[in-house]
Amino acid sequence: MKRDKYDKTISELIVASADYTCEICGIRDGTHQCMHDISRTYVITRYDSRNLICGCAACHFATMKDPYLHAESFKKIKGVEENQLNIERARSGDRLKPFEKDEIRAHWQSELKRINKLRLEGVSGKIELEIPAILL
Ligand SMILES: [Zn+2]
Repeated sequence: MKRDKYDKTISELIVASADYTCEICGIRDGTHQCMHDISRTYVITRYDSRNLICGCAACHFATMKDPYLHAESFKKIKGVEENQLNIERARSGDRLKPFEKDEIRAHWQSELKRINKLRLEGVSGKIELEIPAILL
């Protein structure tokens, strides 16, 4: 599945908010990627930070090859309840209209600016993101 501009924006934000650190193994090896709990096939969770973590390439590959490891990793990082909510959001079949995707992307771009500012001020480690109203 091709990555669109919305994927690129949220991906950049997820790795920045995690301070370029793998949320599974804790390594900072420069291979950080944005990983989805529920597959990108489901649009309603595709650009939602509650469905995403930052992982190194090795952990991303390992979790793609092992569904159990995938599920357990996300539950450990996001919590069992959030994992269940992600499943329910995906199963709802809710779609996003183009203007809604644009609105979500604008929100994430503003969150990235906030994070970059905090980094310049010396803040390190994970920074929690504010969920866009349209996804609540
Ligand atoms: Zn890792």
